[in-house]
Amino acid sequence: MNVDLHCHSTASDGLLAPRDVVARAAANGVEILSLTDHDDTSGLAEARAEAESRSLRFVDGVEISVTWRTITVHVVGLRIDPESSALRDGLQSIRQGRATRAEKIAEGLSAAGVPGSLAGAKRFADNPQLISRAHFARYLVEAGRASDVKSVFQRYLVKDTPGHVAHRWAALGDAVAWIRESGGTAVVAHPGRYKLTKTEMRELLGEFKALGGAGIEVVTGSHTPDQYLEYARLARELGLLASRGSDYHGKGESHADLGALPPLPEGLKPVWHDW
Ligand code: AMP
Ligand code: MN
Ligand code: MN
Ligand code: MN
Repeated sequence: MNVDLHCHSTASDGLLAPRDVVARAAANGVEILSLTDHDDTSGLAEARAEAESRSLRFVDGVEISVTWRTITVHVVGLRIDPESSALRDGLQSIRQGRATRAEKIAEGLSAAGVPGSLAGAKRFADNPQLISRAHFARYLVEAGRASDVKSVFQRYLVKDTPGHVAHRWAALGDAVAWIRESGGTAVVAHPGRYKLTKTEMRELLGEFKALGGAGIEVVTGSHTPDQYLEYARLARELGLLASRGSDYHGKGESHADLGALPPLPEGLKPVWHDW
């Protein structure tokens, strides 16, 4: 079964409209798809309508930005109810935080001799409610500050660079609670991306599970094949469900295309086992 439970549209920082994400997934042979835009569910209705006109099952999703201890962790919610008030209010508060952060990012860039980046980033943001560093990155590339999004991040948008802003996202317990209250399943996105020791990773996943979290992404565009195996072992050991998702954002901005990753390793319980 070709299942892709993590990707982005223009409702957050993806390059394709929700309907075009679904069309591309269908063309690539995806059988179950979830659209998981950052901190926003406004693309789901369009994606679902497109999926209904195709032979593809659609699952409502979201990727919530969380601060755990000092690091940013992403938690994917699957089979959520986007109308749930706890979830809606929670996501709304994160988006407000994004707006304030965007102003600070622009101030930092301005002080470093890069003016006008807030207006520039907003031109790249289809959803004015959702300003991401990815939109700043696209503007900075357009302004000739670097040749591609990846190098722009390294020079302008990560720690110890002019556009870096320390930001506090949602608490892990809140994100898991919003997902669960909306009837959804919580999954830690791309665990291999977090700069944690082995002990800290177990602490994160232990805490997540105790809070009601259910799974982790094992096969994701952010993992190497060695990490597929490493996180498969951890999922088995900690009794967590396993997910698979490309994290597709669009051409030139993703490691993996929709539905193109290998299947889950053997001996795991897929997060979709009882769907
Ligand atoms: P934000 O949630 O606004 O901090 O933006 C994070 C988003 O920026 C991620 O979801 C990716 O889409 C993108 N991103 C983060 N780091 C990089 C990087 N080094 N190169 C390219 N894109 C990145
Ligand atoms: Mn993104
Ligand atoms: Mn993520
Ligand atoms: Mn993502």
